[in-house]
Amino acid sequence: MSEFRKDPITGRQVIVAPHRAQRPRELGVTNNRSPAAPCPFCAGNEALTPPEIWAMRKAPTQPNNPRWSVRVVPNKYPALIQSNPWSRNSDSFYDSQNGVGAHEVIVESPDHVTSLSALGVEQLTDVMGAYHQRMGALRSDPDFRYLLLYKNQGDRAGATLEHIHSQLIALPFVPAEAASELSGADTHYKLTGRCIYCEIIERERREGTRLVLDHEMFIAFCPYAPRFAYETWLIPKIHAAIFEESTQRDLPAFGRALHDTLARIDKALDDPPFNYFIHSLPTALTASPHYHWHLEILPQLSRAAGFELGSGAYINSVAPEDAARLLRDALL
Ligand SMILES: [Zn+2]
Ligand SMILES: [Zn+2]
Ligand SMILES: [Zn+2]
Repeated sequence: MSEFRKDPITGRQVIVAPHRAQRPRELGVTNNRSPAAPCPFCAGNEALTPPEIWAMRKAPTQPNNPRWSVRVVPNKYPALIQSNPWSRNSDSFYDSQNGVGAHEVIVESPDHVTSLSALGVEQLTDVMGAYHQRMGALRSDPDFRYLLLYKNQGDRAGATLEHIHSQLIALPFVPAEAASELSGADTHYKLTGRCIYCEIIERERREGTRLVLDHEMFIAFCPYAPRFAYETWLIPKIHAAIFEESTQRDLPAFGRALHDTLARIDKALDDPPFNYFIHSLPTALTASPHYHWHLEILPQLSRAAGFELGSGAYINSVAPEDAARLLRDALL
């Protein structure tokens, strides 16, 4: 089974999960799945996945049967599992704990669709509803400190199955990326009394040069200092720290804004591989005037290489002002 190991120098957490090496590689040049092999995520093949955790169904049908619109199953090769009792192994120098957590897969269409932007707005709203339901359910579990909902679309972005899906991992600690956003936002709030994300929204709407779209409830923009070419963030205009507290009115608006943004990225960049993830407030916190949930989309047009890996800094060859202009004009 897996374990968390803490690097004794930097404190960086690593999940060591040797059993995940058995995962199939099903796309691209590493494809070893015969084209005739059934896709485990297609409706009708429910028996090929572990039993479902939750599904959105339009008609009352039995679990693990077809006629669902979004289906959530445990990851067959989980990085973390929920049932372990927590245990720590520390010799005062090296420190590890067993891999307690959750690792779910959200299958985003009953049909064999390979690009999220191919879904209609209604189906995409169901997908947002599934994210909301599962993150809400795991948020109340006291074993977890942080939830990360993320997508890998395309082989180069790390997807091992092409049928569209996202994943949700629940962690027993707040990971470094989220901790650094929280502490930066906290510092800004202490200095100015304002949410830095709300200030960014005001500024991007006023300047317009990095704005991709401006809907009634959400904006999408290319951030001022993007790590990746065409990096795009989607954020609600009204201050809200916790995605899981979105209302039934917010989710269709989120679905529409995500659909519009992905359609632009796919059209402008010819269906690039990409990752996205939702950053929401850690589960132990109930409200925050300084943190603001958002979704970050990172197209993977070039690989992070030696400089990025060695420095933790990024070289990006596309200015966000040029990226935003291309995405704004993509559907004209
Ligand atoms: Zn499929
Ligand atoms: Zn805010
Ligand atoms: Zn973020």
